[in-house]
Amino acid sequence: MPLRAPGSFPVVGIIGGGQLARMTQPPAINLSITLSVLAESEEASAALAVPSAPVGACSDLEAVRAFARTCDVVTFDHEQVPAEVLAALQEDGVVMHPSPEALVFAQDKLAMRRRLSAAGLPCPAWAEVANLAALETFGQEHGWPVIVKTPRGGYDGKGVRVVQSAAEASDWFERSAGQPLLAEEKVAFTRELAVMVARSPSGQAAVWPVAETVQVDGICTEVLAPAPELDSELAAQVAADALTIAGDLDVTGVMAVEIFETVGSDGGATYVINELAMRPHNSGHWTIDGSVTSQFEQHLRAVLDLPLGDPSPRSRWTVMGNVLGGDYPELYPAYRHLLARDPGLKVHLYGKGVRPGRKIGHVNVSGDNLNDLRERARHAADYFQGVITE
Ligand code: ADP
Repeated sequence: MPLRAPGSFPVVGIIGGGQLARMTQPPAINLSITLSVLAESEEASAALAVPSAPVGACSDLEAVRAFARTCDVVTFDHEQVPAEVLAALQEDGVVMHPSPEALVFAQDKLAMRRRLSAAGLPCPAWAEVANLAALETFGQEHGWPVIVKTPRGGYDGKGVRVVQSAAEASDWFERSAGQPLLAEEKVAFTRELAVMVARSPSGQAAVWPVAETVQVDGICTEVLAPAPELDSELAAQVAADALTIAGDLDVTGVMAVEIFETVGSDGGATYVINELAMRPHNSGHWTIDGSVTSQFEQHLRAVLDLPLGDPSPRSRWTVMGNVLGGDYPELYPAYRHLLARDPGLKVHLYGKGVRPGRKIGHVNVSGDNLNDLRERARHAADYFQGVITE
C-alpha cells in the first residue's frame, strides 16, 4: 500500500504505537490524513489500526530517522524519546510538534518545576535534591512526609514515592548516579483536576472544560467532565494558566495540565500545578464522545497548523471510566451483556493483551444525571474487568 495519500494530503508520523496513536486513526480517516506510527512491535495497539506501522525502537536513531523521512510532520505517543534522538531529528530538519524545546518540560519534572515557578505559576514547595542531606533539609523545612520523584521516566505513579525520612529514598539516590531528584511538599489536595489545551504553530489555542480525575492506587480510574461544583473563577484561572503555559513554552499540539485542588488559607478553593503531558492524555478521553472536537482530532489539526475545532462539550456531563485488565483474557464476550444493558455506552478498547491492572480501554457516557452516568461507567469498567458478573 502506498504510504502517501493522493494529492496534497499529508502524512503524520507518530513515534510510539500505543493507544493514543491508535485513537488518532478515526479522525485521521475523516480528514483523509495518512497516519504512520513507529511501533514497538507488530502487535502494538496502534499497529493493529493504522495503515503504516514500521517496527522500531524510539531510541534507535537510524530507525527513527528512516521513519521521519516518510512523514510530513512527526509527533509523539509518549514522552520517552531520548533527547539525543530528538536533537538529531531537529538537525535533519524534521518538523516536530511539540518541539524538543517544549517537550522537555513534559519529559523532565525538574525542568518543568523551574520553568513554572519562574513564570509565577502556582506549584507545591519543591527542591532539586542531589543527596540525602539535601532531602533531609527539605523535609525539616516543609515537614514529613515528602514526595520524592525521579525527574524522568515516570508514569502512572511509578517514579513517585512518599517518604517519611530521607533514608527511605537512599536506594533512589544510589541508582540515580549523581542525577538530582525532585522533592515536593505533600499537597493536602481535596481532588485532582486536569485541563486540556491545544495550540497550533500559528498560535491559535483552544481549551476544553476543566475535568476531575479520580485516582485509585495512583491509577486514574474515572474522569468527570466538567469537574462537578468547581468554582467558576477557579475554573477560569486554571484555563487561563493552561493557555499561558502553552504560549510561554511554545507548545504545539495538545497538552494536559494536571492540577491539585486545595483549600487556601482563606478557606476557599485554590490549586497548584502537578505536571504537564504534551500529547493527548487519559484525562481528555472523554472528549471523543463528549466534545464537539476530540483531543485526537484537535492534536492532528494543531500539528498540521490547521484551524482548531470547537472544544465545547456536547452534553451537560460526560463520565469516562478506564477499563483495567482483570483475570479473564477475553473481552469480546462482555459486549453482549454490556451493550444490551446500556445502549448509550460508548466503548473504546485498545486491542491490547489483558493483564491485571493494565489500562486496556475506556468507556464514555454522556447525559444530564451525573450519578447515573458514574454508575453506568463504573458498571461497564467493572464488568469488563470481571469484578462483577451481571
Ligand atoms: P506520574 O508522572 O507517574 O503520573 P505524578 O507526578 O502525576 O506522576 O504523581 C502521581 C500521583 O502521585 C498523583 O496523581 C498524586 O496522586 C500523587 N502526587 C504526586 N505529587 C504529589 C504531591 N506533591 N503531593 C501529594 N500527592 C502527590
